[in-house]
Amino acid sequence: MIPRGEEYADPAEPFGSRSAEAVSLYLHIPFCDAKCDYCDFYSIPLGHKSPKDKDRIINRYITAVLKETERRLGNHRVPTVYIGGGSPSSLGAAGMTRLLRGLGSLMPPAGELTVEANPETADGAFLDACGSGGVTRLSLGVQSFDRRALKALGRRGGWQDLPHRVAAAAEVFGPGLSLDMMSGIPGQTEAELRRDIDRALSYNPGHISFYALTVEPGTPLARRAAGGLTLLPPDTADRLWLAGRRALIRGGYGHYEVSNFALPGRRGAHNIRYWRMENWIGVGAGASGTCIGSHGRGRRIHYGPDAETFITGPVEIVEPLDRSTVLREILLMGYRYIEGPDPALFRKRFGRTIEEVIPKTLAKWNDTEKRLLFLNSFLLDSFMELDHSKF
Ligand code: SF4
Repeated sequence: MIPRGEEYADPAEPFGSRSAEAVSLYLHIPFCDAKCDYCDFYSIPLGHKSPKDKDRIINRYITAVLKETERRLGNHRVPTVYIGGGSPSSLGAAGMTRLLRGLGSLMPPAGELTVEANPETADGAFLDACGSGGVTRLSLGVQSFDRRALKALGRRGGWQDLPHRVAAAAEVFGPGLSLDMMSGIPGQTEAELRRDIDRALSYNPGHISFYALTVEPGTPLARRAAGGLTLLPPDTADRLWLAGRRALIRGGYGHYEVSNFALPGRRGAHNIRYWRMENWIGVGAGASGTCIGSHGRGRRIHYGPDAETFITGPVEIVEPLDRSTVLREILLMGYRYIEGPDPALFRKRFGRTIEEVIPKTLAKWNDTEKRLLFLNSFLLDSFMELDHSKF
């Protein structure tokens, strides 16, 4: 552990603290109302705490996040901000207002400010706090509108309120609303999934993140599966995801990243910066950020997944990234995005074009849609070609 990252700072690089280069900002809120059965993220459930204890930890955490953000931001330009979790709606309207105001005192408004929320905690007051606090996108973790499917996922939100909560979010954010939907839920049929997607589209969100359920080891869902819960066979789960994808495309949503679909002009700018590995700072317990300099070297800075340590004294963990690691990560992340890595940025970082680095793989995989659907095979070819090159 290195308490501060100065050992690796190079003022000549774009991530140097004296630079005014664009750097996006990710703030991590590690709280949830209750743990979902499939979740293996670091998060602290607050639902069972007394209002007093809840407010106390939330306020201490917001103070720490704002202080650390101020320290890290320097005079960087911040094109996009993403407040994720956990579940930022666990902060409540008062907590979110305080966080947004604090952020507003540290930097000019970003072009895109996204907040993640869960329907069970995103009530009217929270939505208003976001709407009036400069939030431009709300990403709502719906997963499914089906009561049985939500139960299978161990989602504890009030099912009856779900349609009203989504409708209220659509009213405040219009096309700035993004819905998270999920396929491959135990017991889910293709007809149920299509009903779910149709229902999601009926709110006219500008963006949909559509994931296939993965059962992470050590989660309650994995334990339930070991105890007899029947999961969908992989080919059925694949068929369902592809059916959902077709429904989204028919609805006018372009498939622009492995799990993301958007109406024209509604792609998520912040996440595109991740996929293109443009520099970002991550602040919060369990948050991570990556900055890459003009010579293809970079560093990743993260904080341990421990809210109490973050509150009492954030400790940066700095991981230097050499050119070869950066190059592989750029391929790994960049080709999740339909348009691939940014050509100009790639050239600036590595002094040659991506076509010069993996020419054979790109000639073989010239169909971008196929590349997205069979990303792992594409990446395998890319890495094999890289291993045989002099790069
Ligand atoms: S709300 Fe999200 S972060 Fe929280 S437990 Fe559920 S899946 Fe995990």
